[in-house]
Amino acid sequence: MVYNEEDYLQISGLQHFKFCRRQWALIHLENQWSENYLTADGRIMHERAHDAAFHESRGDTLIYRGMNVFSPSLGISGQCDVVEFHRDPGGVELNGHDGKWLPYPIEYKRGGGKSVGADALQLCAQALCLEEMLCVPIPFGALYYGEKRRREQIELDETLRNELRECLDEMHSLASRGHTPRVRTSKSCSACSMKEICMPELMKESRVSDYIKSALEELDG
Ligand code: SF4
Repeated sequence: MVYNEEDYLQISGLQHFKFCRRQWALIHLENQWSENYLTADGRIMHERAHDAAFHESRGDTLIYRGMNVFSPSLGISGQCDVVEFHRDPGGVELNGHDGKWLPYPIEYKRGGGKSVGADALQLCAQALCLEEMLCVPIPFGALYYGEKRRREQIELDETLRNELRECLDEMHSLASRGHTPRVRTSKSCSACSMKEICMPELMKESRVSDYIKSALEELDG
């Protein structure tokens, strides 16, 4: 199956989806957005990762920043913080560079890695896009955590790939139906950037957009 471009989901949404399905739907299906210090801090760090020179070369490594990636078969698109290309006979040829190069995506994260599972899914999505775009298997990538200032290598194994595919199937299903899951309060709610918009205690049944629409209609009336 190949998705139409207009149905592509943002890779960054996997973080939201793993945190709370409703949060993902509010942001990505209903286009609601709210920023707290956790999301602001993470955004600034990503901007820094993308700020530097577009690409550079260090010995047997080429470093590309802010590379756009997509996968028609998974119906996703996004941007890699950093993709290193390591000189490797199992890699691919790159325009303007001798030899073969194996992609190695690196995802930058704030904090110390409390949500490695969700971070690894996002990294895996980037890697699968690169595999489809460059026709090369990518066995590993890395997560870089700002607090620790070091990277952790992640094996992109079948278990992780299958979990990713299951998440994306569910996300595409919700997106095609335009369905926002109901509130399910959990300990995540207290750290949620959308809690003021989600209104977990009030919004157990209806969509936030419907609530805002009816509130505006009341004001107009
Ligand atoms: S407040 Fe709770 S239920 Fe609502 S979006 Fe956030 S985590 Fe999900």
